[in-house]
Amino acid sequence: PGVRDAAGSASNEAEFDAARGVIPGGVNSPVRAYASVGGTPRFVASASGARVTDVAGRDYVDLVGSWGPALLGHAHPEVVAAVQAAAARGLSFGAPTHGETELAALVLARLAEHARPVAERVRLVSTGTEATMTAIRLARAATGRDLVVKFAGHYHGHSDGLLAEAGSGLATQALPASSGVPAAIAAQTIVLPYNDLAALGAAFDAHPGRIAAVITEAAGANAGVLAPEPGFNAALARLAGAEGALVVLDEVLTGFRVGPAGWWGLETAAGAAWEPDLLTFGKVIGGGMPLAALAGRASLMELLAPLGPVYQAGTLSGNPLAVAAGLATLRLADAEVYRRIDAAAGVVADAVEETFATVGQPVTVSRAGSLFSLAFRSGAVRDYDDARDQESWRYAPFFASMLADGVSLPPSVFEAWFLSAAHGEEDVARVLDALPRAARAAAAA
Ligand code: PMP
Repeated sequence: PGVRDAAGSASNEAEFDAARGVIPGGVNSPVRAYASVGGTPRFVASASGARVTDVAGRDYVDLVGSWGPALLGHAHPEVVAAVQAAAARGLSFGAPTHGETELAALVLARLAEHARPVAERVRLVSTGTEATMTAIRLARAATGRDLVVKFAGHYHGHSDGLLAEAGSGLATQALPASSGVPAAIAAQTIVLPYNDLAALGAAFDAHPGRIAAVITEAAGANAGVLAPEPGFNAALARLAGAEGALVVLDEVLTGFRVGPAGWWGLETAAGAAWEPDLLTFGKVIGGGMPLAALAGRASLMELLAPLGPVYQAGTLSGNPLAVAAGLATLRLADAEVYRRIDAAAGVVADAVEETFATVGQPVTVSRAGSLFSLAFRSGAVRDYDDARDQESWRYAPFFASMLADGVSLPPSVFEAWFLSAAHGEEDVARVLDALPRAARAAAAA
């Protein structure tokens, strides 16, 4: 199967042409289209471990990792076997299964064991978008308030109210960040600069008793990596708590990736004493299948239907194949897995820094645990304005050179690079070998 070019060969270009005739832009999620780096997206035929192979038969060391889920690398044999076994028992029932209970219990146990028992109930959904959307709805129901605070450059999925961007002043209600989002819905969101406690205080002062929740990425990783400054999350939680607002900690990307209890687990292990009210998970929790979750204390979570008045549902929620992949992935994600990812990420991030220093091209490598990203600027990147204030055009030639040398990077400078436990010495060596040529191409742009 596959589309052939005029010479009869399988080709990414022929696939892209065919896809664009039937799918908007040829892709089912926009960043896949290579719009900001140019060129033809690689159509993946298969993937294994740290490598993806395109339809033309070329293999690449993959630093996209399905945008996070591939913690163990692609097609881990035990995960694939678990999904195959589940498939043989039936694809979807629309009725509860034992695996859902096991996965929910495993999530709670991991939080309790590697941090603190912060949550008592878990609801499984299919996407991170649903998890954060439901968390916001719960927070509104629990507080009887409508406004939500989010931070500029944080991404929480594509529900209307979270596709909002800052209005004219701090603490003013937000504007739609996408065509099709009603202004009245965006106006229920307040978008603040990240890592800015004064702005958060000002928003609470401007809207007393009206803010239901502050939603924040546990560590920002959707405008490049924006690590929370030490103490920022704790202070945010203190402020929100004092004002009667809930904290929704979005660990869709960081959860079970930066450590066994996510970013909050890392902060807690380092001595932090704050707690989120609701947590959202996605990506790794589904092991590459469509699965996400929200979790929190029973008194909050049991506001959800069928026990409470907050409606939420899903035909494929807790899908047995997705649950099987998630369970297998989390069970395999032991201390050694995190040690390997931390080590591989450290080597690559250090090499990026060193290579650009050698070439004389100023860059900043921002890090949060095993997550890191590159920005073409000097100086720390602490918020979205910083992230945008860079020579982003240098990324396209950098990306193209890496791709030509067999390394598939995220096709946007505003994305984190994802390592996995399957990235071994040979994979990392290919990345390091490719860096100098790519850095010179970026410097010359
Ligand atoms: N929250 C965060 C922090 C994310 O990174 C993402 C996806 N990149 C989402 C929510 C949305 O998840 P999904 O794409 O599964 O809807």
